Amino acid sequence: MSLRPTLETRRAQPTLEGAGVKLHRAFGFQDPSELDPFLLFDDFRNERPEDFEKGFPWHPHRGIETITYVLSGTVDHADSLGNTGALGAGDVQWMTAGRGILHQEMPQGNPQGQMHGFQLWGNLPSAQKMTAPRYQDVTAADIPEVTDDDGTTVRVITGEFWGKKGPVDGIAADPQYLDVTMPPGVRKTFRIDTYRRAFAYIFEGQAAFVDASAPSGVLLEKEVAGQEVNIRDLSGDRTLIRFGSGDKITVQAGEQGVRFLLISGAPINEPVAWHGPIVMNTQEELMQAMRELRNGTFIKPAH
Ligand code: MN
Repeated sequence: MSLRPTLETRRAQPTLEGAGVKLHRAFGFQDPSELDPFLLFDDFRNERPEDFEKGFPWHPHRGIETITYVLSGTVDHADSLGNTGALGAGDVQWMTAGRGILHQEMPQGNPQGQMHGFQLWGNLPSAQKMTAPRYQDVTAADIPEVTDDDGTTVRVITGEFWGKKGPVDGIAADPQYLDVTMPPGVRKTFRIDTYRRAFAYIFEGQAAFVDASAPSGVLLEKEVAGQEVNIRDLSGDRTLIRFGSGDKITVQAGEQGVRFLLISGAPINEPVAWHGPIVMNTQEELMQAMRELRNGTFIKPAH
């Protein structure tokens, strides 16, 4: 087993998106190879309705998957496949845009006026960019939760973990999407298969990620597997941690414990041509999508 180094830690940045929704972006619209197969991660936790209620009115997607995970409040949604409904606390919407979908996502918040959730974009390989659009709505009750002896709890949204399998299936990038809660002071090692690209996103509490790569600005400690390792001090809330190659990570929870997403997937390793909500391989494919949006042929009529 080899420990994955922490290549980078950074705070999510304030960003305005949709019709005027305040959110924090951990990554996106920069170097798409960095976290391939993932393109973007937004944290849309807000405490005031005026910061989210304008929402994300009708817009297109092609060539990607968008994954919405709601922690608190509800999101009303509708799309060109005819799906409509509301996502509630703990629910996941996994939308495979494929060759094209139009949808809208309108956050409604909870009775206290808060709205908490995340959106992740996963890329599709060229062979599946023009696949039929697909929509998987997963309610909180269908997401398995597993608790270990030390009190660590993991919600398994996709992929397999500790013998549980998440309910979302058929995804090209073979993602593993985990919501991990660790009690104060617990230290734990998580296996992540070598072929995966991986990141963590801390959204409550604090943690340190044990790092064998000896970066600067870390605390020294001599106790993991008999080797001298470094523990990177982390600031906690809204922090992205990008891991290098290896097959495990070790997390040390802080005094208040920690809650984070641990997300990994198989890199696609293809050229990326990206314009707003449309992500293809070439500029020509992007221009084709724009032409279809203009002339009204972007969405294939239902048969
Ligand atoms: Mn969207």
